[in-house]
Parts: sequence; structure tokens; C-alpha cells
Amino acid sequence: MLDYLELEDDLTGEEKLVRDEARRFVEEQVKPDIGDHFEQGTFPTDLIPEMGELGFYAPNLDGYGLPGLGERAYGLLMQELEAGDSGLRSMASVQGSLVIYPIHAFGSEAQKERWLPALGNGEAVGCFGLTEPQHGSNPAGMETRAEKDADGYVLNGSKTWITNSPIADVAVVWARDTSADGSPVRGFLVGTDRDGVTTNKIDDKLSMRASVTGEIGLDDVWVSEDDVLPGVEGMKGPLSCLTQARFGISWGVVGAARDAFEDALQYAKDREQFGGPIARFQLQQGKFAEMATQITNAQLQAHRLAELKERGDLRHQHVSMAKRHNVRVARDVTRTAREVLGGNGITTDYSPMRHMENIETVYTYEGTDDIHTLVIGADLTGIEAFE
Ligand code: FAD
Repeated sequence: MLDYLELEDDLTGEEKLVRDEARRFVEEQVKPDIGDHFEQGTFPTDLIPEMGELGFYAPNLDGYGLPGLGERAYGLLMQELEAGDSGLRSMASVQGSLVIYPIHAFGSEAQKERWLPALGNGEAVGCFGLTEPQHGSNPAGMETRAEKDADGYVLNGSKTWITNSPIADVAVVWARDTSADGSPVRGFLVGTDRDGVTTNKIDDKLSMRASVTGEIGLDDVWVSEDDVLPGVEGMKGPLSCLTQARFGISWGVVGAARDAFEDALQYAKDREQFGGPIARFQLQQGKFAEMATQITNAQLQAHRLAELKERGDLRHQHVSMAKRHNVRVARDVTRTAREVLGGNGITTDYSPMRHMENIETVYTYEGTDDIHTLVIGADLTGIEAFE
């Protein structure tokens, strides 16, 4: 596996174990069928509990049965999962960073005991409802409302593009609490079996096909006071979750790029044209040198993010830079790798085009490339380009 600057030589024994376990899981359990899942638009749901048993959800958090590993181990896990498919990493990102994390960070003791063990071991599936049909890059404009009644809240609104919503047991729904001054955004734990909740599946995706995506409709859905996350108010609730998930994405996409590169390299050594392997042509070697350099730069950013996160110095703008850069790398590398495979490259027999299509989603979700560009721009200039 490409590790040109030998960054993985510095991993601890525990981190190497985590990496190897995830790599084995992907080779044995994911790669054989993932092309079929992608074609059919299905997620391998049978793997959800096993991923839990292996500690793939929120591996960097502890207590309540969670693994309590370090940040680099978390990153390595995301990298290996996304080498299988971005859909698999998305499942783990949502479950870990967008559902377990907010309950762990902002939940009551009762909420933690109710949900964290079940979400951690994959008995329960969660989803994160922030995006709305009219509010994507600008989630603060959300229209979903929570109105106070005697001992709870009544939720109305709709969320869309929600990973896992059709298979979720619980949704972390972000809504404006109209009973408080300024209608602050608050997080609500909504069981998907509650009256008034619908979770229609979005079927016509050309990207991230091996991932279940849907809507969340909320029509006079009642939840109790005990279902409100007590520890956070305002947009910092959802945004702090997104910083966690984007850290994982910055690592994950390196796995997709690396997998596409490895597929293309093997193919170029095996495929013969004009009396020998295409890998001997200078034009092809140039592509491999460029891909390897780009992947190595992405690896360096990912490893550095983990160091900063581990010592408590990670800023969300650092994560914006790595998410933006590493997704761009994955977008370029998967396309070049596809090209090396010629006609065979457009099939699901090989990984590059599947990864390439997935990356179009990753380029857009968790803050588009444009939005992260403006976040970095605002940090450097001190001037916000948008509110
Ligand atoms: P828009 O915000 O409408 O953007 C359209 C274009 O305008 C983009 O190119 C954007 O960069 C550009 N643009 C917008 N504002 C500016 C600006 N100020 N300056 C310059 N350009 C700008 N959301 C969830 O809440 N939970 C999930 O689990 C989830 N999973 C997803 C899974 C998939 C497969 C997909 C595709 C999306 C998912 N999303 C999820 C939603 C995702 O986060 C949004 O699609 C994303 O935030 C972009 O919003 P939008 O699609 O409404 O695009």
C-alpha cells in the first residue's frame, strides 16, 4: 500500500493493529460484494453489527462501551473503510461523529445510557438531520421548528439528503426552539418510529450508491423534554459534530484515492499493449508519479490533523483545509486512475470509477469545496465572505 514517506512507520502497535483489522475486514467482507451493492443501490446492512463489534463507530470516544482509541487510530480506521467504499465510511462517520458524538458531548446521563452502548455496538442505527430542502450550505436558515407544550416539544419540518435515515432507529434532529428568546437551534433525539415521522429513501443517486440516503419528514411529532440534548444551544451544536466528521473525511478520502491508485498500478503492470506492459510508457509513469505525490501530500495533512487534535490545538479551519485539499486529491486521483484502466475502467469490476463517483458526494457534503474555500479565506483575511 502506498506510504511513500513511510508515515505509517511511526504508528504505535495499537494503531497498526487497528489499521490491519480494518484492512482485513474491508478485503474479506467488503470488496467482494461492494461493486454489486453500488450497482443495485444498496448498503450491506448485514455488516452494521460486525462493524460495531469491531469498534468502528466513534473509536476515539470512551465510556459506555466505546473503544477509547486515539485520534490517529480513528483516522486510520476511516481511511481503511473508505478504501472499501465511501458509503461504508459515511455509515461509520454518521454513526460515530454525527450521532454518538453529540450524545456523548451534549447528552444527559440517561440519554447516554439509553443510546451509546446500542449505537456503539451497531444494535441501533442513527442519522443526523441538519440539511433541509431550502437550506444546505446555509443550515442556520433552517425552518424546522420545535414548539413547547406542557411536558415536551412538537416538531414540524423536513430534512433531506440524510444518510441512513431510512434504516435509522434514532435521528438527531436540529430544530429552532420557538419557546426561547431568539429561537436557538437545539438537538432533539427523535425515534423514527414516532407518530408523524417519515423517512422516504432517495433512489435516483448516481454517486454514493452503496449508502442509504433519505428524507426526514416531521409532522406534529411529539418528543419529551428528556429527548432534548441539554448540553448545547445554537449552531455550535451541529457545527462541532461536523468538525469531527470532517476530520474523518480528511482521512477517509485518502483511502479511496489510495485504493484507486493501487488498482491502476496493478493494472498498468499487467495490461500489455504494443508488446509490453503499459506501465513502461513514460506518459503512464508520469501519471503514477503525480498520483503518488498528491496522495502523499494528503496523507501528510491527515497525519498532522491527528497530531493537532490529539494535543487539543485543532481548529475547525485546519479541518476545512484538509477536507478541501484531500477531497480534491481524491477527485483528481480517482479520475486519473480510471483513465489508466482504459475501457475496463468504466466497469464495477475495478474500484476507480466507483470511488470517482462517490467523491462527487464527498466534495459536496459536510461543507462544499466552495464553502471550505471561504472558511480558509475568512481565516486568512479576517473578512467573512458570507454570514
Ligand atoms: P447548496 O447549498 O444549494 O449549494 C449549491 C452550490 O452553491 C454549491 O456548489 C455551493 O458550493 C454553492 N454555494 C452555496 N453557498 C455559497 C456561497 N456562500 N458562496 C459560494 N458558493 C456557494 N446532510 C445532513 O444534514 N445529514 C446527512 O447525513 C447528509 N448526508 C448526505 C449524503 C449525500 C449523499 C448528499 C449528497 C448530501 C448529504 N447531506 C447531508 C447534505 C449535504 O451536506 C448538502 O448537500 C451540502 O451541505 C450542500 O447543500 P446543498 O446540496 O443544498 O447545496
